[in-house]
Amino acid sequence: MEAAVLVDQVERSLSRRFKELEETAQYNQVKVIKAFQAHRVRDTHFHASSGYGYGDVGRDTLEAVYADIFGAEEGLVRSQIVSGTHAIASCLFAILRPGDHLLSAVGPPYDTLVRAIGRDNPGVGTLIERGIIYEEAELHDQKPDINNIRSKITSQTKMVLIQRSRGYSLRPAVDLNTIRSITETVHSQNPNTIVMVDNCYGEFVLTEEPTICGVDLMAGSLIKNPGGGLAPSGGYIVGRSHLVSQVADYITAPGLGKELGASLGQNRLMYQGLFMAPHTVMQALKGAVLTSAVFGHLGLKVMPQWDEERSDIVQAVILNDAEQVRKFCQIVQQSSPVDSDLRLEYADMPGYQDKVIMAAGTFVQGSSIELSCDAPMRPPYAAFLQGGLTYEHVRFVVEQLINGLIINKGGSL
Ligand SMILES: *Cc1c(COP(=O)(O)O)cnc(C)c1O
Repeated sequence: MEAAVLVDQVERSLSRRFKELEETAQYNQVKVIKAFQAHRVRDTHFHASSGYGYGDVGRDTLEAVYADIFGAEEGLVRSQIVSGTHAIASCLFAILRPGDHLLSAVGPPYDTLVRAIGRDNPGVGTLIERGIIYEEAELHDQKPDINNIRSKITSQTKMVLIQRSRGYSLRPAVDLNTIRSITETVHSQNPNTIVMVDNCYGEFVLTEEPTICGVDLMAGSLIKNPGGGLAPSGGYIVGRSHLVSQVADYITAPGLGKELGASLGQNRLMYQGLFMAPHTVMQALKGAVLTSAVFGHLGLKVMPQWDEERSDIVQAVILNDAEQVRKFCQIVQQSSPVDSDLRLEYADMPGYQDKVIMAAGTFVQGSSIELSCDAPMRPPYAAFLQGGLTYEHVRFVVEQLINGLIINKGGSL
């Protein structure tokens, strides 16, 4: 069957699922508009500040808007935060002290954080080298194991880290009910333990965010969901005021905190991106659902299934073969609006343990709210596809993938 015909057929069976995604986007869009209105966002907030950045009302208002949308006391939203890893690691390094216990509640965290923690190689500057005691609660059947988590909380446990998204693993993204029960369990064992969520890829996927589950601190990247494809760089941190202040003092210097940091003319794109984000995330989710449905139909293992509840925008397609993964990523790259003629290979990347291959023919370098696809070079050789500023782009890529991969288009392998 011709790819376009097959995709058309599958797409028609997805209309109810698409409707649900549209309803979530509608809800979130109104939430964002109301927050802009409550803080009286105006044109002057888009003006650039320079130098120290004292009194940058646009920057401060944006942080208040973020706090509102994410249901938090305070926000820190900066283009000087260079990536998601920087945002999350800043929280860990700002708050943890020698002798403190850090527990990752959902098995190993994202590759770049494993590196910053120093789990496998406690080199200079890592958390472990600084005397932080790090532990992981293993998953049970790929799901967080509440009893196991409970048993690992001690009086020394300063922080519990929950990574919401699957990252580069085949466990499902953690749903909000589970985040709530982990948080309640942790706080009932030790009310002083800070529960922190790595919310990368999770923003606006649902109508609520993890902060409503009693989480104390949360961080993410602006070149993923909340930047809406427009923010040119940055990260955000939201949570309890005293914690966000501590992180701000760490990122700048004690005593300087949130007061400094020139926005250098990026405010408008950060506001506009946030405004676009609910819609953009919906485009990405529709694309992920289509990808899942098509390749599931063709007999490949996909995670999550098209009709499964999602808590992030990542779609894994398991190919069981490094060469097929390379081909998959190559086709995504070839079908991009930018850098479409690059030839991709697996390569070492700063912070990653295995070689990775990354397709990102994006306007903002490495942006993964734009359609992108990465894969670490390790079994079971899965491609992790995420993003898509327009559903139409994802649909085009899916058709190119059907044509380019060695799969039996009749419906099975
Ligand atoms: C992308 C990601 C990170 C790291 O973000 P970078 O911007 O790539 O540094 C951390 N955790 C998760 C779950 C992610 O998806």
